[in-house]
Amino acid sequence: MKTETIPFNKPHLTGKETTYIQDAVLSGKISGNGKYTQKCHRFFEDRHGFKKCLLTTSCTDALEMAAILMDIQPEDEVILPSFTFTSTANAFVLRGAKLVFVDSSSENPNMDVQLIEALITHKTKGIVVVHYAGISCDMDVVMDIAERYNLLVIEDAAQSIESTFKGKPLGSIGHFGAFSFHETKNVISGEGGMLVVNDERFIDRAEIIWEKGTNRAAFFRGEIEQYGWMDVGSSFLPSEVVSAFLFAQLEELSEIQSRRMKIWKRYWDELSEVCLAQNIQIPVIPDFASNNAHIFYLVLPNRDLRDRLIQTLGDNHILAVFHYQSLHKSDFFLKKGGTPRLLKNSDRYSDCLVRLPLYYDLQDEEQDRILKCIKNIIETR
Ligand SMILES: *Cc1c(COP(=O)(O)O)cnc(C)c1O
Repeated sequence: MKTETIPFNKPHLTGKETTYIQDAVLSGKISGNGKYTQKCHRFFEDRHGFKKCLLTTSCTDALEMAAILMDIQPEDEVILPSFTFTSTANAFVLRGAKLVFVDSSSENPNMDVQLIEALITHKTKGIVVVHYAGISCDMDVVMDIAERYNLLVIEDAAQSIESTFKGKPLGSIGHFGAFSFHETKNVISGEGGMLVVNDERFIDRAEIIWEKGTNRAAFFRGEIEQYGWMDVGSSFLPSEVVSAFLFAQLEELSEIQSRRMKIWKRYWDELSEVCLAQNIQIPVIPDFASNNAHIFYLVLPNRDLRDRLIQTLGDNHILAVFHYQSLHKSDFFLKKGGTPRLLKNSDRYSDCLVRLPLYYDLQDEEQDRILKCIKNIIETR
C-alpha cells in the first residue's frame, strides 16, 4: 500500500465559503468595502476591540499602508527583526527607509527587545515587531521605548490572530497592527490581510490611502456629497469575493482555534521530554503571552541535524519545512549596501529551526505517524 504524504499545510474550508461568495456575486456589489467587508470589520472590532479595521489584499499591503501612514522619508531608520518574512522589510524599503536589524532572543525567535534601545538614532522613525508563531514580544518594553523616543510601533501580527499580551489582543497594542489571511495562516482567504489602526490620529487618512487616495469610504457612509482625490493612496482593499470567503472562516474561528490548539498541545506533550533530553529547543511561551497554535517548531542543535530531520521525515512521506533566512544576510540587503552584522540567534533559527505539519484537518493517526517518526529519529541519532 502506498503511504499517503502528510503535507506541511492544508487549507481548511468551513463549508460556507462558496455560499457567501455566491451571495456576494449575485448581490451585484462585487468590488470592495461592501456587506462582507463590513461584516469582517465588525467581527474584529467586536471580538478584539480593535479601534479601526481595514481589510487589505494581504498583510504585505497592510504593512505598506502603515509605512505610508508613518510618512517614512528616505534615510529614515526603522528597527525590525532579521528573522522574519521579506514583507516586514519591503514595506519600509519601498519608502526609502534604512533597515536596522535586531537579533532574535535566545529563548524564542522573537526579537530581543533589550537590544532595541541601543540601535536608536535621531533618524529612527519606528519599530516593527513580529510576534513569531503568534507568541507575543514583551510589548511593555517596546511601548516604553517608543514613548520615550517618540517612535511609532507597528505590530506585524501576520501570525497572531487570537493571541494576547497580558490579556490584550496582539495587533491592538502598537500604533498599527497588520494581519494575514494567506492560506498558510490560521484563518484564510487565499491571499488577504488587515490593517488595524489603534491611534485615532491616523484613522481618517488610513481610509483615504486604502481607497486610492480618495474619500470614497466617507462618501459611501453618506458623510459627504461627492468624493475626490485627497492624498496619496493605492488599491489596498479586497473585493467582496475575498471578504465573503474570509467571513465564512471567521464564523468558525473558535472551532478552528480549538482544533489547532489540540494538535499543538499534543506535539508539546509528546515531544517536550525527548527534546529536552536531546538538547532540542521547543516553543517557549512567556508568562505575559498566550499561544494561538500557529506554528509548532523545533530548534535542533545544529544545521546538519535539522536538515537530516527534514530529509528523514520526507523519506517517510512527511513534509516539514524551515524558514526564515535571516534578512541581514540576504543578497538584496547586502547588494543595497547593508552593513553585514553578526546576529547569532537569528542565524541559529535560520539554520536550525524546523516547522512541523499543523493544520485543522490533520488527523490523529497522521499525527501519530509524525510523532513516532520524530521520536525515532531523535532518539537514534
Ligand atoms: C505571512 C506573513 C507575512 C505576509 O503576509 P501576506 O498576507 O502573505 O502578505 C508578513 N509577515 C509575517 C511575519 C508573516 O508570517
